[in-house]
Amino acid sequence: MEIKIISFDIDGTLVDSDYNDLIWHKAIPEMVAEKNGLNFEEAAAKVKKEYDRVGEDDYRWYDIKYWISFFQLAIGYQELLQKYEQNIIIFSDVVPTLEQLCRKYQIISITSMPWEFMNIKLKRIKKYFQENFSTLSEYKELKNKDAFFQISRKLRVNPEQILHIGDHEKQDFFAAREAGWKALLIDRFYTGLQEKYPDSVINTLTELPDRL
Ligand SMILES: [Mg+2]
Repeated sequence: MEIKIISFDIDGTLVDSDYNDLIWHKAIPEMVAEKNGLNFEEAAAKVKKEYDRVGEDDYRWYDIKYWISFFQLAIGYQELLQKYEQNIIIFSDVVPTLEQLCRKYQIISITSMPWEFMNIKLKRIKKYFQENFSTLSEYKELKNKDAFFQISRKLRVNPEQILHIGDHEKQDFFAAREAGWKALLIDRFYTGLQEKYPDSVINTLTELPDRL
């Protein structure tokens, strides 16, 4: 069956993930330090302990509004995210690839990150995307089989007509395939995925048009 829709993960696939670390492990601890009269190391340890207590399987872990309120910080989430907006790096192969693909395919994005992060990250390339899904904001789930299944139903296409590209083995590759989607992994940093899945790995998005 012919591919109609190309779906992209965001972090690590379209956008460098460093921005997240900057928000979670620098900006938040800095503000916690200032509010509580701690030095940066003390604040970073305190913040990490609280993140760990919630844990990454809990959707609150990803919720910037939750943490701003938890640490009682006097800043709005938009102001915080915008303050570091210039640190959002879109990989250089993204625009040329989307420019080429958008002539023939519908393009969507799917992330486990909440809306707040998604919108600011896609701001400069949003014209290419027909729809953007945050499984966390919409279904309170990380990307899993069920989330992919619900998205293809919402898009009213046969799951086999969607190709998803992402960098996470479980959340992008296996979850999409379990829902009947086609899927490729992108291994931008050559972490050895190629050896594990020889037919399903690309290293840059420029390889994508030839794989369709
Ligand atoms: Mg990713």
